[in-house]
Amino acid sequence: MAAAPHGLLLVVSGPSGAGKGTICGLLRQQLPDLGYSVSVTTRAPRAGETDGINYFFKSAAEVQSMIADDELLEYAEVYGNYYGTPRRYVEEQLEAGKDVLLEIDIQGALQVKEHYPEGVFVFIVPPSLDELSKRIYKRGTDSLDVIARRLAEAETELGYARKYDYIIVNDVAAKAAAKVLTIMEAERYKVSRTYFIVDEICQQKEK
Ligand code: 5GP
Repeated sequence: MAAAPHGLLLVVSGPSGAGKGTICGLLRQQLPDLGYSVSVTTRAPRAGETDGINYFFKSAAEVQSMIADDELLEYAEVYGNYYGTPRRYVEEQLEAGKDVLLEIDIQGALQVKEHYPEGVFVFIVPPSLDELSKRIYKRGTDSLDVIARRLAEAETELGYARKYDYIIVNDVAAKAAAKVLTIMEAERYKVSRTYFIVDEICQQKEK
């Protein structure tokens, strides 16, 4: 039985400062058709962030109501704030055959894996913990107590890498992004995604 080809669901996680935002930005530049799921969050916007582009900035009550109405594909509390992925956009894009990128934390990624085991789960790691702490300080967007929490959690988070399908070391972001593109390319040819071609070939013979 031929299966309709769905888009790839690419899920990218990694400790804060590993550079997943930069890598995802490069992927989006190189794949203009890649659907990007804009998350909801209760955290305050940072300088330069725009509602509806970086996040949908919501109150806790609004996010709780979305959770109650099953509007989120996954959600998690990260550093004291809610973050979640609106379900509808992701499902519509995948059904239309478009690839979708989720840049989400580990708790969220594991929830997505339960519902979409066929997703492609990529874990970005820094070259070292030293480099990670340098990057977080240099970014300068978080208060000192948030930075300390992010660093403390990074080591625990690295332990979850084995739950993912791929690990990419982000030494040079452009190279890391190129590796993710290679993964996506290979994933397209997996038997689980392409067997319908064999079915179609066989059906032609029967006609
Ligand atoms: P930030 O506050 O730095 O933008 O994001 C903090 C963390 O929340 C990052 O690890 C980011 O990937 C994660 N995050 C962003 N959006 C979502 C989401 O929709 N769901 C989950 N589970 N995590 C998210």
